[in-house]
Amino acid sequence: MVRKLLIAGNWKMNGLLAEGADLAKGIAGEVKKMGKLPCEFLVCPPFTLLTTVKKSLRGAKVALGAQDCHFADKGAHTGDISPAMLKDIGCQYVILGHSERRANHGETSELINVKAQSAYRNELKAIICVGETLNERDAGRAVEVCTKQILDSVPESATYQNTVIAYEPVWAIGTGKVPTTKDVAEIHAAIRKTLARKLGKSNANRMRILYGGSVKPSNAAELLSLDDVDGALIGGASLKVEDFIGIAKNACKC
Ligand code: PEP
Repeated sequence: MVRKLLIAGNWKMNGLLAEGADLAKGIAGEVKKMGKLPCEFLVCPPFTLLTTVKKSLRGAKVALGAQDCHFADKGAHTGDISPAMLKDIGCQYVILGHSERRANHGETSELINVKAQSAYRNELKAIICVGETLNERDAGRAVEVCTKQILDSVPESATYQNTVIAYEPVWAIGTGKVPTTKDVAEIHAAIRKTLARKLGKSNANRMRILYGGSVKPSNAAELLSLDDVDGALIGGASLKVEDFIGIAKNACKC
């Protein structure tokens, strides 16, 4: 089953207007130079940069995504952004259930499930994040935790076209620590098995499962060569053009 690699940048809460425009222009320039692309590119800047980044990416095959959304299309939700607004502004993707939102904003898998359904209604693809904490891994519960998060966070209506999964061990995010390839392979295989149980084999075999957590140019080739790893969700290294593009070049041999 051929699944095109997705190289996705999660800029988190970084970038003022000028920096965001420069980063997006830098990425766009490098992607244009590559010509025929063996992978897909996506950047997910903060809400405030979406319009600027969209303009700066013009002409380059780089998709635009947001880092979260509310489940409602509009209404009395001070400070929130709806999927309809994201679609309207030109987003194709939205990250949901990132561990920083699960931990810092108390987001549950059930809420993420409802947000994903709302994203689908607005023709956005959901990148649904799962991953265990260090305590959970040390207790030998990594597979169990990720399986439960998939079962609860992924809607019944998820398909390979509207959903991407990101496995991001919480302890690997922004720490420079990366699981062994054996551990990554084990979790990705368990996730695909769970997706097959929930959504059927055909969807599961075509759905992309990204790895995220301290991905950099030097470890990208090894991680992304694993059978069930279909791309990367990149935090820190997505903020530098050479690192983001270096990851893609090393992983996709482009
Ligand atoms: C992330 O937060 O999605 C992430 C993977 O961060 P980093 O690459 O910095 O570990």
